[in-house]
Amino acid sequence: MEEVKEVVETPVVENKPVEKKKFVRHNKNKKKVCAFCEDKNCKFIDYKDVNRLRKFVTEKGKIIPSRQTGTCARHQRELTVAIKRARNIALLPFSGD
Ligand SMILES: [Zn+2]
Repeated sequence: MEEVKEVVETPVVENKPVEKKKFVRHNKNKKKVCAFCEDKNCKFIDYKDVNRLRKFVTEKGKIIPSRQTGTCARHQRELTVAIKRARNIALLPFSGD
């Protein structure tokens, strides 16, 4: 009779430092500045200024969130109003086709 001994190998747990997932920000060095704050001449956001508003909407007409464009809260609020006005007079498309 042979005794069959099961050798259970305990896996060697290496104490590796857990690699933190790097969240790559392509704009690491450059801090985003609100485009409207930078423009000192711009006191309010003109809804007729379509070329400017276009930068803040997607192709489908959605308003791009401020965290992506870097627009400050105050101007983002004005911007949404301006975009909505522009939509109303068909300068910009409504979101969703
Ligand atoms: Zn601003």
